[in-house]
Amino acid sequence: MTHSSVIHSSDVEQGLALPVMESFYTIQGEGHHTGRAAYFVRLGGCDVGCHWCDVKESWDAMAHPIVPIKTIVDEINVSKTRFVVITGGEPAMYNLEPLTKALQQQGVEIAIETSGAYPVTGDWHWICYSPKKFKAPNPAIYQMANELKVVVYNKHDFEWAETHANNVRSDCKLYLQPEWSKADTMNPQIVAYVKENPQWNISLQTHKYLNIP
Ligand code: SF4
Repeated sequence: MTHSSVIHSSDVEQGLALPVMESFYTIQGEGHHTGRAAYFVRLGGCDVGCHWCDVKESWDAMAHPIVPIKTIVDEINVSKTRFVVITGGEPAMYNLEPLTKALQQQGVEIAIETSGAYPVTGDWHWICYSPKKFKAPNPAIYQMANELKVVVYNKHDFEWAETHANNVRSDCKLYLQPEWSKADTMNPQIVAYVKENPQWNISLQTHKYLNIP
């Protein structure tokens, strides 16, 4: 991605430019929209601190270029995508009103993946709430989430997942996803759990099986 415009720090505060760690056109590998062609924009910056995080290089926002919204949208438009996923890091740390407005004007569907640790700004077609034990969520996320995706690291996480499921809307889709390094151990337990509790679905990180980003 190129980023030649002059950027001011107030641009980031206003959401007119954002720190972008990477952006790429791929297939959504997990959750409700698994299998869909999707353009991912990974924003830098996260203070949640999951010990199993597989994108720790995203944590330091200052390590990533600040890119104007227009540049982000122009790059997306080069692809044929109809679906854009804003992820991180923790994308809700930023004012996302201008970005979502610009993307809405392009007529693409837009989704966010968030830990819920910050209030979600902007106008979204799909909000995926993936709670983390390391930072409590902002309670507003429960009424906003279209999808609850809980990463299962150990057997105690099933009970923890239910505490979140008790708070989301009745139409919120529920997913349990094995933490990648624990999948061999946790997959059989997740299969058994979903059979007993069929309101839940399994989410697998299919992009890792496909060896794509
Ligand atoms: Fe990593 Fe996401 Fe946890 Fe942040 S919230 S530490 S990006 S897994």
